[in-house]
Amino acid sequence: MHELAICESIVHAVREHAAGRPVRTVHLRIGNLRQVVPDTLIFCWSLVTDGSDLAEVELLVERIEGRIRCRQCHGERVLDDYVFACDRCGGVDVEVVAGEEFLITALELTEA
Ligand SMILES: [Zn+2]
Repeated sequence: MHELAICESIVHAVREHAAGRPVRTVHLRIGNLRQVVPDTLIFCWSLVTDGSDLAEVELLVERIEGRIRCRQCHGERVLDDYVFACDRCGGVDVEVVAGEEFLITALELTEA
């Protein structure tokens, strides 16, 4: 379950950026091409933060759909089938333009 390791990294990043200020919510943006299950991530978050000062912090996950662009015809489409081929010209010379994100986009701090 690599979500556990991811959560430990998030804890680390949140502590660094919050710099001691109390955090209420962590906003994440995760591409669909990342092998991350949001429910598992949120479950792991509760395990990792249990009993700590981050125990009440909520994770909010925004998913980004995968998109590929064809280098031949420049067609772009949603990648919902893991078939890395262009649906316009059939070319396989494609690049991923979205869906590989893994970002902490915002920290909401608790009002003091
Ligand atoms: Zn194409």
